[in-house]
Amino acid sequence: MIFQPELETMPAEERAELQRRRLRELLTRLKAVDSGYWREKLADVGPDDGIEGLPYTRKQELLEHYPYAMLAVPLGQTVRVHGSSGTRHKPTIVAYTEGDVSVFADVNARSIGCAGGTAEDVLHVAYGYGLFTGGLGLHYGGERLGATVVPASGGNAAFQVQLLADLGATGICCTPSFAYLLAERAADEGVRDRIRLRYGVLGAEPWSESLRRKIEDAWGELDACDIYGLSEVIGPGVAMECRENKGGLHVFDDHFYPEVVDPETGEATEGLGELVLTTLTKEALPVIRYRTGDVTQLLPGDCTCGRTHPRIARFSGRVDDMLVIRGVNVFPSAIEAALLEHPGVGGQYAIVVDRRPTMPELEVHAELSSGDLLAQRDEVRRSLEAVLEQRLHLRVTAIVADPGGLPRQEIGKAKRVFERTDETDELLQLTGG
Ligand SMILES: [Zn+2]
Repeated sequence: MIFQPELETMPAEERAELQRRRLRELLTRLKAVDSGYWREKLADVGPDDGIEGLPYTRKQELLEHYPYAMLAVPLGQTVRVHGSSGTRHKPTIVAYTEGDVSVFADVNARSIGCAGGTAEDVLHVAYGYGLFTGGLGLHYGGERLGATVVPASGGNAAFQVQLLADLGATGICCTPSFAYLLAERAADEGVRDRIRLRYGVLGAEPWSESLRRKIEDAWGELDACDIYGLSEVIGPGVAMECRENKGGLHVFDDHFYPEVVDPETGEATEGLGELVLTTLTKEALPVIRYRTGDVTQLLPGDCTCGRTHPRIARFSGRVDDMLVIRGVNVFPSAIEAALLEHPGVGGQYAIVVDRRPTMPELEVHAELSSGDLLAQRDEVRRSLEAVLEQRLHLRVTAIVADPGGLPRQEIGKAKRVFERTDETDELLQLTGG
């Protein structure tokens, strides 16, 4: 269901006007805040400046101003804090006013609605409750939608599948890997046939289309939809896939204004780039043009679900993975996508950055998808090179091995990008050469 139809199906022009008004109000408010951070950040900014003229914000700033120095309201006006887990350094602390908590609930109610949720549902929330935004974010969203929320939190899968069966859950919110684990556990415990899940609101970790298929097959009737968010912006509920069109996420841009920029130059790009978000309505801790580090692109066209919020592609990695080859930005995920679509090659691949020439060169190693294609190896290689050149705007050398010809890595996350210099050849070392 569409939770806030007047906002979610608003005509584009009307929303653009709403965004301009909200940005003006935000800048006016922030320029009046008694805060060293905001004075410095907005020193050269006027309230009527367009978003493209505003300075970027980076995660480092949140760490430097830990815990409260970026707040735009007195601490007394906030009602909650969340944080991202700090592994090596301090956590990132974010704060919410009552109004922020309410927007947070709205966008999560919208998200659950996108996946197919309604007020009649029993909604099982198995994200962690605590400083992490996932549990409480979806919990408040489910209540706002009118669903019956089960705050299961993480862990104890055997108990969770009993709850899913006994309480009659129709929706689940958790990480995709946990959704799959629960399906296996439900089968082990013999309760699989008593569980009637229709949809999943799955996020907080990167996941592939193949994992989506595995989750949907394992549960039978379930729509597995991707939710996106980050605590620096609000938490989950920044963007969400609708069940009608999996593959793109609607960005709730009446609250979170998206841009996609070239991570090197900061210029807007129509292709893959870094997602940048501006919170138009956040009160306690707004962020201006926040560099998320997440790689995506804006998708053209209208969505059949009726929502007019623009869509971004599912995420294809982090900016940190980007290669710069002869001045061209190359995302390994774009190479992977081109390879997976090519019928002549299988899913195994390796990318070699050859740094021996003055200007580095790119070599892509793939495998024939079947032994029947051995005679057409040259043809497959040429068409692969043509597709890669067209996609990457860069000449690439393709090398096509026999089926099973590339080294397999069985431990941990597969390494895909290898360096070659005068001293070392990482891919050759892996093959034992
Ligand atoms: Zn849609």
